[in-house]
Amino acid sequence: MPSDLGLVTGFQCVSCGREYPPDGALYTCPSCGLDGILDTRYDYDAVRRLLTRDRLEADSRHSHWRYLPLLPISERARLPLLPVGWTPIHDMTPLAQQFGLRAVYLKDEGRNPTASLKDRASSVGVVKAVQRGSSEITCASTGNAASSLAGQAVQMGLRAYIFLPAKVSESKLAQILIYGATVFKVRGTYEDAFRISMAAAERWGWYNRNSGINPILVEGKKTAGLEIAEQLRWEPPDVVVVPVGDGCTLAGIYKGLREMNLLGLTSRTPRVIGVQAAGASPIEKAFRTGTTMRAEPSQTIADGIAVGMPRNWRKALNAVRESGGTFVTVSDDEILDAMRMLARVTGIWGEPAAVACVAALAHLVERGDIGRSDRVLLMITGTGLKDIPSTLRAAGGALEIDPSLEAVERIMAREPHLAARRDK
Ligand SMILES: *Cc1c(COP(=O)(O)O)cnc(C)c1O
Repeated sequence: MPSDLGLVTGFQCVSCGREYPPDGALYTCPSCGLDGILDTRYDYDAVRRLLTRDRLEADSRHSHWRYLPLLPISERARLPLLPVGWTPIHDMTPLAQQFGLRAVYLKDEGRNPTASLKDRASSVGVVKAVQRGSSEITCASTGNAASSLAGQAVQMGLRAYIFLPAKVSESKLAQILIYGATVFKVRGTYEDAFRISMAAAERWGWYNRNSGINPILVEGKKTAGLEIAEQLRWEPPDVVVVPVGDGCTLAGIYKGLREMNLLGLTSRTPRVIGVQAAGASPIEKAFRTGTTMRAEPSQTIADGIAVGMPRNWRKALNAVRESGGTFVTVSDDEILDAMRMLARVTGIWGEPAAVACVAALAHLVERGDIGRSDRVLLMITGTGLKDIPSTLRAAGGALEIDPSLEAVERIMAREPHLAARRDK
């Protein structure tokens, strides 16, 4: 049977365990409904023959398409032109010293075409939409999924219909609009936007990029995990720290790390640690109390992880438990401090959601969840350019002066620390 899904053998519900063949156009498990998130399964024997260390090292595609046999996409599919993924991993000695750790790596997802990790999922989504004969695609988003979808859709000639909550960052809105997407700004919450986007997809037959419920989309996110293993020369770190909203990113990265181990390309799988904002932490609470996830209102400046009703909580919890990791929360003030510190120590400017994992480091070391001998990788999931107001809050203001050298002299005399810096 010819399939546009490559080496996919089927889908399995993470709730009830039921398995489904690869031919249906499924989003969630028909018997569990929205709670029945599906996991994509592959013919790993076939993948193992295609993805060997030698083949990968000889592959000149510096994008996540080098892992095509592990994506639900057939070989001949048309792909977007701008390369997605293969973002740099930086070994940051100053951070390792600051926290007393063996190594701290940053994976800079801000280097993707639309400057966040979401391009990994959106790029897979637009390829699939075209393969399925759609010319329209939709999603609801707090920002990055939408700006990424809009930027990936244009490359494939697709029209994107975006549903945003009333509260959306201006930079992200600008990004979505400049790509020419049709934007519905819903007078309501993210939940309202999500519900309407789902209904509209059904009503007009648009392809649905809501990665929480589309098992094909989340596969794109796992390529970050595949890259971590390969880029660190098959010696994955001990710990990978990931900011968590809906949970797909963490679950995806863990799946990628697991698959590298399953294929025999690495000898172990890192612990994965999820970071939530204190004002939007339903998954952390479920983990800590050992209960099922309860939705809550979300209140945080980190809009990328401001999810009060995560769809992928079960996958994220499983990944953290299975890997021996943990969850932690950080306050908005800690996030702003981390944003400033990271920029000043490393030169990398992350958005609030992205630097949440930097903010978490101090807690994790203090709690003993990360030890001195650990090599730790932090996922910097999006660029600080996406949130100018938070950046200005973290950074402080400029020194405003009249247009004369004397004005500068007065300030330099009044602020001895500025003069001291000049003397160095
Ligand atoms: C979406 C996003 C996350 C979290 O991903 P989830 O799959 O929602 O858990 C983290 N950081 C940024 C910048 C994001 O846009």
